[in-house]
Amino acid sequence: MQFYLDGYHPGDPELRPAAEGRPDSQGAMPEEVDVLVVGTGPAGVVLAAQLAEFPGITTRVVERREGPLALGQADGVACRTVEMFNAFGLAERLVREGYWVNETVFWRPDDQDRSRIVRSGRVQDVADGLSEYPHVIVNQARMQDYLLEHMRKSPSRLEPDYGLEVTGVEVEGSGDYPVRVTMRRTDAENPSEEVTVRAKYVVGCDGARSAVRRSMGLELRGDARNHAWGVADVLAVTDFPDVRFKAAIQSAQDGNILLIPREGGYLIRLYVDLGDLDPADREARQRFTSDMIIEAAQRILHPYTLEVKDIAWWSVYEVGQRIADRFDDVVPEERGRRTPRVFIAGDACHTHSAKAGQGMNVSMQDGFNLGWKLAAVLEGRSPESLLDTYSGERHAVAKELIDFDIRWSKTVSSRPKDPNRPDDEGLEPAELERQFVEAGRFTAGFATDYTPSMITGEDTRLPAGRTVPFPGRIRRLSGPALHARRSRRRCHF
Ligand SMILES: Cc1cc2nc3c(=O)[nH]c(=O)nc-3n(C[C@H](O)[C@H](O)[C@H](O)COP(=O)(O)OP(=O)(O)OC[C@H]3O[C@@H](n4cnc5c(N)ncnc54)[C@H](O)[C@@H]3O)c2cc1C
Repeated sequence: MQFYLDGYHPGDPELRPAAEGRPDSQGAMPEEVDVLVVGTGPAGVVLAAQLAEFPGITTRVVERREGPLALGQADGVACRTVEMFNAFGLAERLVREGYWVNETVFWRPDDQDRSRIVRSGRVQDVADGLSEYPHVIVNQARMQDYLLEHMRKSPSRLEPDYGLEVTGVEVEGSGDYPVRVTMRRTDAENPSEEVTVRAKYVVGCDGARSAVRRSMGLELRGDARNHAWGVADVLAVTDFPDVRFKAAIQSAQDGNILLIPREGGYLIRLYVDLGDLDPADREARQRFTSDMIIEAAQRILHPYTLEVKDIAWWSVYEVGQRIADRFDDVVPEERGRRTPRVFIAGDACHTHSAKAGQGMNVSMQDGFNLGWKLAAVLEGRSPESLLDTYSGERHAVAKELIDFDIRWSKTVSSRPKDPNRPDDEGLEPAELERQFVEAGRFTAGFATDYTPSMITGEDTRLPAGRTVPFPGRIRRLSGPALHARRSRRRCHF
C-alpha cells in the first residue's frame, strides 16, 4: 500500500483528502454527468471504484436496491482478481479474510460398494508460479463492500444512489451529453417518482435482465440448460473428513456436490446437483426448497453424515450459457464512424453456470477493462476510438468462457464410470481430475490473450503489456495500468 504522495496527512491513510471543491458527501443527482454506472454488482463497483480515482470526472452510480448486497451469490475469487484488488490496495484485506483454496479433492463411488463415496484424488489448486496471490473464497457482498468503501474514501467521495431504477436509455444527437437516462425511484418515500439525467457515457452493469441492454435492442443469445443446481451456505456438523477442502464429490446414483469451504473457518457452501428440469414446466425451479437441497447433499455424502444447524443463504441456480452480440451501442456498420456511448458489462452481456466460479471474476474484469479507458478518454489522454476496444476485447473473453463452461458443465454433471458395467457411459474419475488441472490457468484468470489492436501489439516483443516475464516464466497481460504507482506490474483486464 502506498500513501502520502500528495503530502502527509494524519489519520487513516486510506481516507484520502477530498479533491478541491468536492464536499465530503456527493449531494443530489446533477442533471448532467460524465459517466452513469447502472448497478452495484461486481461489474458496477469495480468500474465505479476506478472512476472514483478521477475527481475531475463526474461519475454517478445508481442502484435499484435500497442498499448494498448483504448475502449470497458468488464467492470464488480467482488469483487474477486478487491481483486486480492489489491495484486498489485491497488485496491484503481480501487474502486475510478469505478461505485459501490451496488444494482440491475428488471423491467418487467406492468400487466395492457403490452406495459409498471414497476419496479418489487430491490436486494442487493453483499451479506454482501462476500468481503471487492465492485463489480465495469470500462472499460477493464483502468484495463489493471493500470497493464501496474504497469509493467513499477516494478523492471523489463517490457513493451509489440507492433506490433508483433505470427504465430507459436513449442516445439523442451528438451534444456533449447525448445519452438521456430515465429512472424511477424505488424507495418508499418517493415511490415511482421519475428522474432524468443526461450523460456522456452510460454503462449497464445491471445484471442478466439488464434494462440498459434492452434499451440497446440487444438480447442474450444461447441455450437455457434446464438443469438445476441448489446452492446453500450452511453451518453444519459432519464427519465428512474433507469439509475444509474444496471438494468435487460424485455419487453413483444421487448426483454431485461441489463443496466450497467459506471464509471464517466454519461456514461451507454446497452446490448440489438437482437434476434436469422439464423445459415446459416454468414453475419447476420455484418448487425446490432448502430442505430438498440438504437432503440431496446428505444422500450424496453417504456414508458420511451432514447435520445442518443453520442455513445462511440458499438459492436454486439455473443459468444457461448466453451472450449478447456486442457490448456497446455501435452496430457493425457504424463501427469506427461514431463513438460508443452506451456499454454493458458483466451478467448484462454474458451468463454462464457457477461451476467454474467465473461469473463474478469476469464481470469485475469487464468493469476494470472499461474503467481505465473511459478515464483516459474523458481526461483527454486518449482518442475516443479507444472505447471501441472494450466490446471487441471483452466479447472474445466472454465467448471463450461460454465455450469452456459448456464443456466443463458437461464434465462435472457426468455420471462416474462404473467398473462393474464397463459398457455404460460415464466419466473416469481420473479424467475429471485431469480436466480440472488442465483448466487451472483459465479458471485462475490467466488465459486472457487479446488480439492485436490499437493498444495490444503483435506477439513479437513486449507490446502493450501482452507478455511480461514473471519469475521464470511468461505472464500474459495487456495494456496500460490505472494505478501504476500502486500496482507492482502494468496490466489491464
Ligand atoms: C440470485 C443469484 C445467485 C447467484 N449465485 C451464484 C453462485 O452461487 N455462484 C456464482 O459463482 N455466481 C452466482 N451468481 C452469479 C454472480 O453473482 C454474477 O455472475 C455476478 O454477480 C455478475 O455481476 P454483475 O455486476 O454483472 O451483475 P449483478 O451482480 O447481477 O448486479 C446487477 C446489479 O444491478 C442492479 N440493477 C438491476 N437492474 C437495474 C436497473 N434497471 N436500475 C438500477 N439497478 C439495477 C441489481 O439490483 C444488482 O445490484 C448468482 C447470481 C444471482 C443473481
